[in-house]
Amino acid sequence: MTTTLLVLAITVFAALVFGLPIIRRPLISAPVMRLVRGILPTMGDTERIALEAGTVWWDGDLFSGNPDWRKLLDFKPQALSEREQAFLDGPVEDLCRMLNDWQINQDRDLPPDIWEFLKRERFFGMIVPEEFGGLGFSAIGHSAVIVKVSSRSITAAVTVMVPNSLGPAELLLHYGTEAQKKYYLPRLARGEEVPCFALTEPHAGSDAASGRSTGIVCRGNYDGKEVLGIRLNWNKRYITLAPVATVIGLAFRLHDPDGLLGGEEDRGITCALIPRDVPGIQIGDRHDPMRVPFHNGPVTGTDVFVPVDFIIGGPDGAGQGWKMLMDSLAAGRSISLPSQSVAAVELAARATGAYATVREQFNLPIGRFEGIEEPLARIAGHAYLMNAVRVLTCAAVDAGEKPAVLSAVAKAYLTDAMRSTTIDAMDIMAGSAISGGPRNIMSRAYVSAPIGITVEGANILTRTLIVFGQGSIRCHPFVHAEMQAVAVGDIKGFDKAFFGHLGFVFGNAIRSLILALTGARLVTSPEDGPAAKYFRALTRYSASFAFLADVCLGTLGGALKRREKISGRLADAFAWLYLGSATLKRFHDDGRPAGDVALLRWSCDLALWNIQEALLGVLDNLPNRLAALMARFLIFPLGAHRRPPDDELGAEVARSLLDGNEGRLRLTPDIFIPAPEEDGLGRLEAALEMVVAAKAARDTLREAVRTGKLESQPKETLVNRAVSAGVVSAEDGKRLEAAEAARDDIIQVDSFDPETYTGLKG
Ligand SMILES: Cc1cc2nc3c(=O)[nH]c(=O)nc-3n(C[C@H](O)[C@H](O)[C@H](O)COP(=O)(O)OP(=O)(O)OC[C@H]3O[C@@H](n4cnc5c(N)ncnc54)[C@H](O)[C@@H]3O)c2cc1C
Repeated sequence: MTTTLLVLAITVFAALVFGLPIIRRPLISAPVMRLVRGILPTMGDTERIALEAGTVWWDGDLFSGNPDWRKLLDFKPQALSEREQAFLDGPVEDLCRMLNDWQINQDRDLPPDIWEFLKRERFFGMIVPEEFGGLGFSAIGHSAVIVKVSSRSITAAVTVMVPNSLGPAELLLHYGTEAQKKYYLPRLARGEEVPCFALTEPHAGSDAASGRSTGIVCRGNYDGKEVLGIRLNWNKRYITLAPVATVIGLAFRLHDPDGLLGGEEDRGITCALIPRDVPGIQIGDRHDPMRVPFHNGPVTGTDVFVPVDFIIGGPDGAGQGWKMLMDSLAAGRSISLPSQSVAAVELAARATGAYATVREQFNLPIGRFEGIEEPLARIAGHAYLMNAVRVLTCAAVDAGEKPAVLSAVAKAYLTDAMRSTTIDAMDIMAGSAISGGPRNIMSRAYVSAPIGITVEGANILTRTLIVFGQGSIRCHPFVHAEMQAVAVGDIKGFDKAFFGHLGFVFGNAIRSLILALTGARLVTSPEDGPAAKYFRALTRYSASFAFLADVCLGTLGGALKRREKISGRLADAFAWLYLGSATLKRFHDDGRPAGDVALLRWSCDLALWNIQEALLGVLDNLPNRLAALMARFLIFPLGAHRRPPDDELGAEVARSLLDGNEGRLRLTPDIFIPAPEEDGLGRLEAALEMVVAAKAARDTLREAVRTGKLESQPKETLVNRAVSAGVVSAEDGKRLEAAEAARDDIIQVDSFDPETYTGLKG
């Protein structure tokens, strides 16, 4: 009786304390808030602005532990417009035909007629609206152009990317004054102005906000008139297009010691547009990024004086530069490098599929060897999933999102995959991939992969600091609200967010356990068929990820910021949730083609395996071992049984690239295919066609040799003897000879006489 009364009393007490906010707030929420304030990392303005930039979209669902798949599947990505398609079929094809990447590398620049063509056809004005004379393309249209041009020439692609990415045009569109827009946007669209954007400095690389470039507000003389202006000193490096730029977008710290603008002395990071010819600017020298000759170089300014009107947004834009940059980062980051990465993997798929069919060793096409099948499968699978991510991320931008976290994922994980798949392609094509010259197909994509990894936020930093760091604050349903409440001492707000958070953790822990025990069978998949089990498995891992993320946040608190090996693994789990979901979306949007089931399975198996390994990595290394033990039980109660795509599936995926199969074409619709007589990919495509046409006859010939009907030697007369003996028809004989000649041609590599060789430049 007394025990029952005691239990009852405790229950009533707990219900009152936890259930009544009026009691709960002072008793629980206030001390917890003080505790949280103590463990939260200190955050400067620049960090806060960076973390709060952009919008939350599908990433919010993935962080919720229970993604709403219907929402993803019902979302309609914007299609290419007729105008965009016509541009791709017209000027982009023309440009690609004109580009000779080998020659560009020898000349260390694009030829004048290409520069002229790019400007005339408004390649530099893809993001500039039509009303300002630009092309006004959607993200997906813009991306399609970058993919095609990248597949032909990285130099040309980077030259096109930069004016359309984060830089003067993008900043002016959102923050420019009317006068600035009217003056610059048409000129940028027509290529009359070539822009660059200078943020990076010797002492400010990844930590871009720590730049030492300064501007002092003062009066001075500009163009013969006395004006209120800024005296600038800067030292920037790695600036793409700087050597040829006519206008420099410059980020610097603005000081107003005499209060001429009103307000504080230190106005903060500011962006301005500086014409190249203002006295005091040193510009023109070039860096040499991996021998890929797009223009990139340092630019310095010594006591450069410009009017305050040159600040983007005019004097009102003073001190707004960092916010402008962070808010505008997502669009370009969603497009440029993901598109270049897709170009590289499509090129790899197209070329290696053909090469592994045409090239023979040990009397067999090399694609028949299991050793080659492995990298081929990786290339094919990645071509499928990387393109899925590109299309979905661009679709988010077209829907008006500024996907800060998802663009970081797309940039970092696709450029990493670009690097690994171009390495695979190099290995498959071996000597012919390594030998430079007009015949070489893959080496430029291979050498330029580290550039993509370094720019727009180097990948290590993006993975370990941004994806989870920003994701956990922005996409988490409660953390952001908790932090905001702590910052302003709002107990009511904190109480609401904190108790919501507790319920969220508890819910995800239970769901994680139940879904693990039941193999996620309790989850309703939005559709039947081969994708259903992947929807379920990703839901399970979303719950596990959300739960584990909270365990890490709860046990490490602000220290998680420094535990980058933990946050990097959480980033991996989150990124692969996104990559996996993008693949499911692609399969759905493509109409669930039977021919893509193996690619879907391969991509999703890889995603699930990577998620599992990332979660295990966190559990193995979480400093609080008790929490790790408990979390492991709730996430993997029956152990971790996922495996990467198996050999059989890999073989099926690899074969889709071989023997002229349609899969190779379906995986590579976005790249430029040169004319059949052109060195490199053009001739390889032509050779493949001939080899495929002669395949049946070649099999017959082989069988005749194997059964002793024909002598294998001398090889040179084999076809003639086969025709004479009636083993193959005269027509097949011709096919065999043509295929042999094409094969012989395609395996040749370039060589140079000593004098020419010594003069080679790239
Ligand atoms: C070809 C090329 C073109 C470029 N174009 C432009 C341009 O047009 N405009 C412009 O302003 N800039 C440009 N950049 C600069 C580019 O954005 C920087 O190179 C990049 O930000 C990295 O800076 P960093 O090279 O100095 O590397 P560092 O900052 O020195 O970083 C070195 C390594 O440390 C890692 N790292 C740094 N901090 C952390 C951290 N907290 N946690 C974990 N890892 C960390 C990085 O990921 C990297 O792997 C360009 C660079 C190149 C190479």
